[in-house]
Amino acid sequence: MKFGGTSVEDAAAITRAAKIVESRLAEKPIVVVSAMAKVTDQLVACAGAAGAGDRDQALCIARKLRERHYTAASELLGTGVFTQFHSELEAEFDALDELLRGVAAVGELTPRTTDNILSFGERISSQLCTAAFSARGMNATLVDARQCIITDDRHTRATPLFPVINDALADIMQPLLERGRVPVMGGFIGATKDGTPTTIGRGGSDFSAAIVGAGIAATRIEIWTDVDGMKTTDPNLCPDAKRIKVISFEEAAELAYFGAKVLHPATLLPAIQKNIPVQVLNSRNPQNEGTRIVARAPACKSAFKAIAAKKRITIVDVVATRMLGAHGFLKAIFDIFDKHRCAVDVVSTSEVSVSLTVDSNEAIPAIAADLGKLADVKYEGRKAIVCLVGENLRGTSGIAAKVFSTIADVNVRMISQGASEINITFVIEEDDVPRVVQRLHQAFFSELDPAVFD
Ligand code: ASP
Ligand code: MG
Repeated sequence: MKFGGTSVEDAAAITRAAKIVESRLAEKPIVVVSAMAKVTDQLVACAGAAGAGDRDQALCIARKLRERHYTAASELLGTGVFTQFHSELEAEFDALDELLRGVAAVGELTPRTTDNILSFGERISSQLCTAAFSARGMNATLVDARQCIITDDRHTRATPLFPVINDALADIMQPLLERGRVPVMGGFIGATKDGTPTTIGRGGSDFSAAIVGAGIAATRIEIWTDVDGMKTTDPNLCPDAKRIKVISFEEAAELAYFGAKVLHPATLLPAIQKNIPVQVLNSRNPQNEGTRIVARAPACKSAFKAIAAKKRITIVDVVATRMLGAHGFLKAIFDIFDKHRCAVDVVSTSEVSVSLTVDSNEAIPAIAADLGKLADVKYEGRKAIVCLVGENLRGTSGIAAKVFSTIADVNVRMISQGASEINITFVIEEDDVPRVVQRLHQAFFSELDPAVFD
C-alpha cells in the first residue's frame, strides 16, 4: 500500500491512511510512504540555497519543515509518546541542518549530497507514520529503505539492483510479515551497496512500491492518491468524465505520456511484468474502487478508454525534394534532434516531407538552424496533441472515419496511429482543444460499457 504526499500531508491525512491500513490488516500489508506533500520540493530549494552559499535561507526552510513535522507529530501522538518521538525527530533535523551548514560552507552541491538531503523527506515521513500507526495500536515496524532498495550510484536517478533488492526484501520484510508486523518504509530513496543514500527519480515512490510488491510477489499493489483513479478525460474540460474501472498497462502508459496526470505507469513496470494488479485509489474517498491497471485489458464493448490532450506543442515541418528516393534522410533529421537532446512525440512522413512534434520550445531555433542545412524548415507553436486510447481499436474498422467526421470542421495538422494500434493521435491548434475533446467525449463516451466505466 503506497501513500503519496497528499495522503500523508498532515495529521488528518496520516490518520485517514492509518484507518485504511487497518482495514487491510488481514491481508498482511506493507506500507510505502512518500514525503509529506511539497516536502521534496522544499528540500530541493534547501539544497539549492545551501549550494549557492545561502546558509540562512537553507536553514530557514529546514526550520519550517521541522515545525511542520513537529505539529503533525504532536497532533498524532499522545503527550508521552510525542516527548519520546520528539527527540528522534530532533536528531534527524539536526543532522539535516548539519549537512546544510556543510554544503553552504563549501558552496558546492554534489548529486551525492543532493540525494542525502532529499532522503530526509521520506526518512522522516516513514518514521512519523510508524509512530502514528503504533500509537493507534497497530504493530507497525519502521523499515529503512536504505537497507532494502539497493541501487547503483547514479545519484538523483539511481537504478535499482533487483537481485540484491529481492534478497534484502526476503531477509527483512518476510520475517516481519510472518510475525504479524506491518512494515512501513519510505519510498523514493535507496542506498548504494556501501550505504550512501540515493534517490530513484522524482515521483519515485510509486516505483518503490512496485519494486517491493514485485519483490515479495504481493497479490496486489495499491497506490493511494487524492483522486478517484483515472478518468475518461480531464474533468475540468468535461464535467461528465467517467471513472475508468480497469485499464491495461499499455493504455495507461499511452495516456500518461500524452497528458493524463494521476501516475506514470512506467514506474509500475516491475509489478506489471510479474502480473501483479495495481489499484489506484483515493485516500480521501476510500470506498471508491478507483482504477485497476492490469497486464491484459478485459473485454470492453466501448471503442475507447480515454482521451488525453497535451498542450504547448510545436510542429516542425521539414521539406526536401532531395529526399525523393534517397536513404539516410530520416536518420540525418533525427540525429539533429538527438544532438540537441530533444524528444520527438509524434511523427508523420511523406516521400518529400517529415512533420514532427516536440514539447520543448527553447531548443527549437537551434534545431531549425541545423535542419536548415538539409532542407526547408518551418516551425509553429501553440499546437496540441490529442490522443484517443483503447485496446479495442485493434482490428476495428471505421473508427478513424468516425473520429474525424465528429470534428470535420477542425483543422487537423498531423495524424498518427501507433504501431501498437491502441491509439489514434492527432495534432490541432491549442485553442481547439476544449471543443475537440468535448465533442469527442460526447460522441464516444456517452454510452459506456458499465463493466469498465463508472
Ligand atoms: N517525494 C518524492 C517526490 O516528490 C517521491 C514521491 O513522492 O513519489 O518526488
Ligand atoms: Mg507522486
